[in-house]
Amino acid sequence: MLQIKNLHANIDGKEILKGLSLDIPAGEVHAIMGPNGAGKSTLSYILAGREEYEVTEGEIIFNGVNMLDLAPEERAAAGLFLAFQYPVEIPGVQMTNFMKTALNAIRKQRGEAELDALDFLKLLKAKQKDLGISDDMLKRPVNVGFSGGEKKRNEVLQMAMLNPSFAVLDETDSGLDIDALRIVADGVNRLRAPERSFLVITHYQRLLDYIVPDHVHVLANGKIVKSGGPELAKELEAKGYADFMGEAA
Ligand code: ADP
Ligand code: MG
Ligand code: MG
Repeated sequence: MLQIKNLHANIDGKEILKGLSLDIPAGEVHAIMGPNGAGKSTLSYILAGREEYEVTEGEIIFNGVNMLDLAPEERAAAGLFLAFQYPVEIPGVQMTNFMKTALNAIRKQRGEAELDALDFLKLLKAKQKDLGISDDMLKRPVNVGFSGGEKKRNEVLQMAMLNPSFAVLDETDSGLDIDALRIVADGVNRLRAPERSFLVITHYQRLLDYIVPDHVHVLANGKIVKSGGPELAKELEAKGYADFMGEAA
């Protein structure tokens, strides 16, 4: 589904990714772990299409298409979803309206008809119930004054509504509490399916106790330096990243 080949990327003239390769088939959950500053978030921003990152070499193929040729909204229409480390607050825009606009924008990009108000609400109700989100929360402006857990719930709701074929989750290093971890993990686990893949990016092993990945990769100094199964995450938890930092250097 997603193939990253020999990706090199700069920001402000500094090379951050230095030949990163990764292959994620349909239906799999891959985790990337790595020390702070390794380039994990850089990878997620490049997948998102943030223009301040300059790709100098390599390619990203998503379902047979060169993703680097696509604008961010075209990537979303092609089935990519990114959950960010720090969700943005949008004062004045109600959650429900935001969700409807986002969903219909993607449908339009895909050449699909807009959902009418009734069908939209039906879909929203179903997902909302799964996630234990109150009507009250959906009437509030997007993320404004939301707790960390509510922001996460909102993100997972967006993911469930947009029904992406590939989702990237870049978790904050500063640590979600256990409740927020469970919200994210339950949301992801519920969406695991043969036609959908996930890339879970995390500094800590904890999240991977809840989302058990098919494959774990270590990103250090701008490239993947080791890959393995879920046991690799446990090994990193016990030993830290010191070995890999030496290897990468
Ligand atoms: P991680 O998510 O693995 O902790 P990041 O991708 O956030 O790592 O950062 C990778 C490296 O890129 C770090 O050394 C960071 O300081 C550097 N970096 C990130 N953004 C910028 C920027 N705007 N200008 C210069 N360096 C940056
Ligand atoms: Mg970091
Ligand atoms: Mg990061």
